[in-house]
Amino acid sequence: MTIDQRTIDAAVAAVTAASRLTTSAQGRLLAGDTLTKTDDSPVTVADFGAQAVVCSVLTETLGDVEMVGEEDANDLADDGSGLLDGVAALVSTTLDRDVSASTLLDWVAVGSGSAAADRYWTLDPIDGTKGFLRGDQYAIALALIDHGEVVLGVLGCPNYPLATGGRGATFVAADGETHLLTAGERIRVAAVPPVSLEVARFCESVESGHSDQGQSAQIAALLGMTAEPYRIDSQCKYGAIALSDANIYLRLPTRADYVEKIWDHAAGKLVVEYAGGRVTDVHGAPLDFSRGAGLSANSGVIATSGRFHDEVVAAVGTVLP
Ligand code: AMP
Ligand code: MG
Repeated sequence: MTIDQRTIDAAVAAVTAASRLTTSAQGRLLAGDTLTKTDDSPVTVADFGAQAVVCSVLTETLGDVEMVGEEDANDLADDGSGLLDGVAALVSTTLDRDVSASTLLDWVAVGSGSAAADRYWTLDPIDGTKGFLRGDQYAIALALIDHGEVVLGVLGCPNYPLATGGRGATFVAADGETHLLTAGERIRVAAVPPVSLEVARFCESVESGHSDQGQSAQIAALLGMTAEPYRIDSQCKYGAIALSDANIYLRLPTRADYVEKIWDHAAGKLVVEYAGGRVTDVHGAPLDFSRGAGLSANSGVIATSGRFHDEVVAAVGTVLP
C-alpha cells in the first residue's frame, strides 16, 4: 500500500522528536522518575514523555489520529508522586515551549485509541525500558496498521552501534522499501542472507525472561551456528537483521500464556520484511495484526534475512516442547 509522503514525514518527525527526549533523559533519571506497572514492568518519565511527544507531533501535523500506545495516561494521573511534573518538564524542554500538566495528559491519552479501528497507529514510546534503564539499547517504535496489515514502520534506535562506527539509527519501512536514516544520510538497506547457516549469527533479548536463551542455544547448535548470540534489547533486533549485523532473530516463549503486544513488533516486522527478510511466529505462521492489541494467534517470533527461514522454523520446531 502506498503511504502518502506527509504521513511518512510526520511519523519520522514524531520519532525524531521523541528520540531527542529519550536521549537527553537516559542516564539522568532520578529515583522518583521510575515506577513499576501492574504487570511488574518498569516505566519512566521518559516513556510517558516520548508517548506525549509522538502524539503531539502526529496530531499537530495530521489532525486527529487513532493511536494504540503502550502507556496509559491513568498511570501518570493517579500516581501523585511528582512524576507528572517530571514528564511535563522533559516534554517542555524537548518541544521548546511550556507544556501544562493537563495538555501533557491529553497527549499521552491520545494513545488510548482502539485497535479495532480500520486504520490506527501503534506506539511503543520506549521499547526495551530495561535496556534504557541499564544505559543500553532501546527503541522508539511507531507503526501504522491498516485493515490488520502493518503498512508503515518507523523505528528509532538512538544508541544503535553501527558497523561503520557511528551510533544511532532510524529505520523507515514504507512503500516496500526500508531506509536507514543516520548522520544526515538516507540509505536503502537489504538484509543479506549468510552464505550458510554455519556462519549465521542470531540475536535475542538481553532479558532471559523475554526469550528462552537455553532453547536458542540448542537451536543454534542444531543449525551448526558457532557465533556467540548477539544480545540486544528492544526492536533494535529487527534493525540488526535489516543491516545484516545479525541474520536470525529468535524470540522463544518463556511462558505458554504470554501474548506478544502489537507495539513490540509492528514497526520492526516491516523493517525486516521491506529489507527482504521474513518474519513469522515460532510455528512459521505470519504475525496476525488483525486481533487487537495482542498477537493472540501467534507464539513467539522468528525473523530472518530470508533464505534460511524455513530451516530455522524447522529447527525451532524440533527443540520447542
Ligand atoms: P526485549 O527488549 O526484546 O527483551 O523486549 C522488551 C519487551 O518484552 C517489552 O516491551 C515487553 O513488552 C516484552 N515482554 C515482557 N514480558 C515478556 C515475556 N514474558 N515474554 C516476551 N516478551 C515480554
Ligand atoms: Mg516494548
